[in-house]
Amino acid sequence: MSWDSLWINANLATMAEHSDAAYGLIENAAIAVTAGQITWLGTMEQLAEFDVERVEVHDAHGRWISPGLIDCHSHIIYGGNRAAEFELRLEGASYDEIARNGGGIIATVKATRAASEQQLFESAAQRLAYFLAEGVTSMEVKSGYGLNRENELKMLRVAQRLQDEFPLEISRTFLGAHALPPEYHNGDEYIDMLCQQLLPEVAQKKLADSVDVFCEGIGFNVAQTQKLLNAASALGLNIKAHVDQLSNLGGAKLAAELGALSLDHLEYLDASGIAAMKRQGTVAVLLPGAFYFLRETRLPPIAQLRHAAVPMAIASDANPGSSPAHSLLLMLNMACTLFRLTPEEALAGVTRNAAKALGWQDRVGQLSVGMQADMAVWDIQHPAELSYNLGKNPCVGCIKSGQVVF
Ligand SMILES: [Zn+2]
Repeated sequence: MSWDSLWINANLATMAEHSDAAYGLIENAAIAVTAGQITWLGTMEQLAEFDVERVEVHDAHGRWISPGLIDCHSHIIYGGNRAAEFELRLEGASYDEIARNGGGIIATVKATRAASEQQLFESAAQRLAYFLAEGVTSMEVKSGYGLNRENELKMLRVAQRLQDEFPLEISRTFLGAHALPPEYHNGDEYIDMLCQQLLPEVAQKKLADSVDVFCEGIGFNVAQTQKLLNAASALGLNIKAHVDQLSNLGGAKLAAELGALSLDHLEYLDASGIAAMKRQGTVAVLLPGAFYFLRETRLPPIAQLRHAAVPMAIASDANPGSSPAHSLLLMLNMACTLFRLTPEEALAGVTRNAAKALGWQDRVGQLSVGMQADMAVWDIQHPAELSYNLGKNPCVGCIKSGQVVF
């Protein structure tokens, strides 16, 4: 066989969509890679029928291999941090008081604007390293703390540089509609500026593949969301939205019907939103880190999503205000403990379903023939351990497109 490399003596959690086995399990298995793609996988017994000379062999010694993990929702590029604000809140200050004293998202906007492109790159790279160490091979990164042309484009260039300098793929999302910038007092005017000026430039320079919007009482209303997402679609960009986190404005139904790849947060998602997501094949991205950090009590409608077979993804939402997360594995645990996902659903949420949330399901998110060879190697006895452990990283190897990262 003309394979480039071969991993042997592994237990595979393939997460293959149509497998009958839990986790798509293949025990005592091998996986062959050619030109960055998976070209064969099966049991060690089946492997014995092949002549495997002249192949680079890696012995997994009984460890587990899963698809490389995918974090499909993050805001890892930002200036400063909000630890002082966290402390103030615990000392009794209200969110309003903090916001009036220059805290909240506008504090991060100020710090991000003040940071140089190099500084933003270095701090984001530091955060990224934690995710890479947990076997993350694909990650979505949003802009949204610049809120003007110069600084939104700066953030998107940093996202491109992360992709260029690290062994992982970055999906770049333009989130200019994250909050109303301090220079504006009217959301309509700002959305018009985004639609007429910034969005066309982002599309023309290919600085992003997707567009996101914060549809919420403290963000943008449904009409503004519709206008922005329509403009993005017309420019050939994928669309997604932060919806139903703190209230239900009807944004989920609207964005699903406009063809959003994913809808994210969803604590207040209702039956009409779920029905629209089911019809459109929209992925529900659950963000348990923000739920935890904000001490929310309203759970996303997991049982209804499960019943409707809406694919559920899990992501870090890594951001300085509501989810200062540096671990996707911790999100698996939170998805299970807080949202009552099963460990298998949680792992599907950072592999197969996260790939769908990015529109990358034909390339990544499963171990199967024809998929890109993105793999994480785990020193565990069973894949449920990835959700079970708190604060433990059992990742002992990472492979991106067939190349060993570590
Ligand atoms: Zn977010």
